[in-house]
Amino acid sequence: MKIILLGAPGAGKGTVAKLLSEIDGSVQISTGDILRAAVKAGSELGKEAKGYMDRGDLVPDSLIMKIMEARLQEPDCEKGFIMDGFPRTIPQAEELKSLLQKLSISLDFVVNLEVPRDVILDRLTTRRTCSNPACQEIYNIKSNPPNPDGTCKKCGSPVIQRDDETEEAILHRLETYNAKTAPLIGFYEKEGLLRSFRSLESKKTVEEIVKTLEA
Ligand code: AMP
Repeated sequence: MKIILLGAPGAGKGTVAKLLSEIDGSVQISTGDILRAAVKAGSELGKEAKGYMDRGDLVPDSLIMKIMEARLQEPDCEKGFIMDGFPRTIPQAEELKSLLQKLSISLDFVVNLEVPRDVILDRLTTRRTCSNPACQEIYNIKSNPPNPDGTCKKCGSPVIQRDDETEEAILHRLETYNAKTAPLIGFYEKEGLLRSFRSLESKKTVEEIVKTLEA
């Protein structure tokens, strides 16, 4: 499958992408994960991106497009991909359109995950993430807590609250989403590619997406 996942922070893009990738081996491409790994590794890209990310601001489009142009040409993308967290702005979507044309890739469609704002806020403030960059398992202190000593059930590393998941950063990320990313819904609607799913349970949403793919 070749799809883009749109949705506010906390809408469940990461979980849905992971479940979809398990179905047919399509690769999950998360620009957030790529950037977090770069920050952890202390690379030039990471140093440039860290300040924006900690504040809940978007990293400049030029930096993201450089990453994605290279990523889409890696051999594992031939089978299919699920883009999670990209594109995030109209200029990124426009540049992606040209890039896909250049690479002769056509998308199946763009999935828009619709989740009410109160559900999003609750999910984000209770979310915790495994600090091991190779694991990054996601927990929720209410519905899916880590081990009682605060370590990851999968790899045993400490489970943490990300710098961009403090209440202040979360509110800022939601404002940024409304201002910069929500307009992509109209963009892809005009392109005839948008499919919206009211999404409260990731597994159900994945079933609906698969049905739409098969139709
Ligand atoms: P995410 O895990 O997708 O919420 O991404 C975490 C952070 O990485 C975001 O708050 C942005 O600072 C940055 N980021 C991820 N993807 C993009 C993108 N496509 N464009 C700009 N910034 C991004």
